[in-house]
Amino acid sequence: MTRDYGIKIWADDNFIIKNNTINVNHKGQPSLLEITQTLRKKGYTGPLLLRFPHLIKKQISTLYKEFNRAIEEFDYHGKFQAVFPLKVNQFPNFVNALIEVSQEFNYGLEAGSKAELIIAMTHTPLGSPITVNGFKDKEMITLCFMAVSMGHNLTITIEGLGELQSIIEVQKENLTMPMPKIGMRIRLHSSGIGIWAKSGGYSSKFGLTSTELLEAYELLERNNLLEQLWMVHFHIGSQMSEINPLKKALREAGNIYADLKNRGAFALSALNIGGGLAVEYGQHSHKKEINYTLNEFANDVVFLIKEIAKNKGIEEPDIFTESGRFIAASHAVLIAPVLELFSQDYQEKALRLKTKNPPLIAELHALWQDLNRKNAREYLHDALDHMESLLTLFDLGYIDLEDRSNAEILVNLIIKKSLLLLSDGSQELLKLQNKIQERYLVNFSAFQSLADFWGLKQHFPLMPIDKLDKKATNPATLWDITCDSDGEIPFEEDAPLYLHDVNVHEEEYFLAFFLTGAYQEVLGMKHNLFTHPTEVTVEFDEQGAFKLTNIIEAQNILDVLEDFNYDKELLKSRLNLPNEALRHKLKLYLNENSYLKTVLALN
Ligand SMILES: *Cc1c(COP(=O)(O)O)cnc(C)c1O
Repeated sequence: MTRDYGIKIWADDNFIIKNNTINVNHKGQPSLLEITQTLRKKGYTGPLLLRFPHLIKKQISTLYKEFNRAIEEFDYHGKFQAVFPLKVNQFPNFVNALIEVSQEFNYGLEAGSKAELIIAMTHTPLGSPITVNGFKDKEMITLCFMAVSMGHNLTITIEGLGELQSIIEVQKENLTMPMPKIGMRIRLHSSGIGIWAKSGGYSSKFGLTSTELLEAYELLERNNLLEQLWMVHFHIGSQMSEINPLKKALREAGNIYADLKNRGAFALSALNIGGGLAVEYGQHSHKKEINYTLNEFANDVVFLIKEIAKNKGIEEPDIFTESGRFIAASHAVLIAPVLELFSQDYQEKALRLKTKNPPLIAELHALWQDLNRKNAREYLHDALDHMESLLTLFDLGYIDLEDRSNAEILVNLIIKKSLLLLSDGSQELLKLQNKIQERYLVNFSAFQSLADFWGLKQHFPLMPIDKLDKKATNPATLWDITCDSDGEIPFEEDAPLYLHDVNVHEEEYFLAFFLTGAYQEVLGMKHNLFTHPTEVTVEFDEQGAFKLTNIIEAQNILDVLEDFNYDKELLKSRLNLPNEALRHKLKLYLNENSYLKTVLALN
């Protein structure tokens, strides 16, 4: 059994294991442990969200590099252009880093709401593309016109005929204002695949049917606006695990594009293939989520569009993408301290053996003592058998609570010992691991920090950041600190997680959750009033040393309550304590965040 936590599968060389720690594979290669401890020393407790701008840059430049390579290889005549869809992550320390690292690429932003549009208008470098998708009212369309007046290169993607009518109205009311470019989102009969496939297909929320497309075309023609129509857009859904649905969608969209162009949409010159590039979240080779590489993806897109253009006798359009998950996921890592291990009491020192024990207990004890590689399987079966009998004896009143506790501990010890001796990966052993799993109470909220795990059972790679030179043998279930049983990442027999046996009263033990930079932050919810964790940007200086910037501490208790429209002053006035010392202590507590403190952090 490998204990590299599948790092070769999901880490994309962004992180490497060095001796006992997992390290950032960049510049001075600091370990996540060093970074975490630096933050702890500054007084930040609770979970920590680390942002790595160099990983945003890597994704953007890889995307451009692969497409530009394919364009050259196939002698394609259009350009490659891309925007980042803001809905994937609108947090300022992400967006600012994204803008900073993408300067050389003419990379833009995609907005889907008025607030996102304001981010796009204030952050996109003039000239870089802004695309505006989603449902829009007249006010939002007017905002788009304003952006163009500011000098932005903006495209409104229309999702329905009503929007086009509004655009025409706004244009007529503001004849002096320059007009945004227009894109048409098409409703494909092809759809995506997997849990996020709903954005495509006939029943999708978005896009124009063939009939509507023709009407839209005529409406533009009648209003002399065909010169604004430059883009055809589709999006078949997120996290495309296979490439075939995209190929089908491309053929469909390519033919629609070509038809519109040949019909007279002379300004058409871009095909926007939406987002959907998948991220490998799998931690076990049989749980991989993607069956293609970016290289293959870019080749397929460029080749297919080239072919359609040739067949239909049109110029090759610029290729636009709006991949978000692919750009943002890897940049954020959540570090969460383990607060406690449950079932640690199944230890030898917890035994309360009597001078005279019931025969079956004495026998269990002997089995445990004498267990070796040769007899392990037999003894294990005997022990499981005895356990059944002992539970029956307890129900009938023949043995007492102490005996029962001894039986549980001994059987647990026997299972653990035999698993170590018999690591043959057999079904029976894997099943037994369920019995001896440890529950790790982890200082984070799955609802706040891994929303897609809660909502869609999306797996995120996770591992301890320390002790990697030691074999982790505890089959582990993780509990978050919300009072909700959905906040549990259960041990899975077919994708087991093993963690170390640690005494968190003596040393801190941290888990890292990777690839949390896309969607999780903004989908995160304040269940039990646990808020966005303390975040920090990890940058590197010339010498390669890391520096921590943009630290934003998790909201304190009073501020969270104020966000929920509680009156802070009223709350304070009601928290009436009899003496100054208590009042002082309470004041400190209220100014801290809701997350728990590890025993060590409390001391
Ligand atoms: C959500 C969305 C995207 C981004 O999808 P990813 O899977 O994150 O790449 C792109 N385009 C549109 C229209 C979207 O709604």
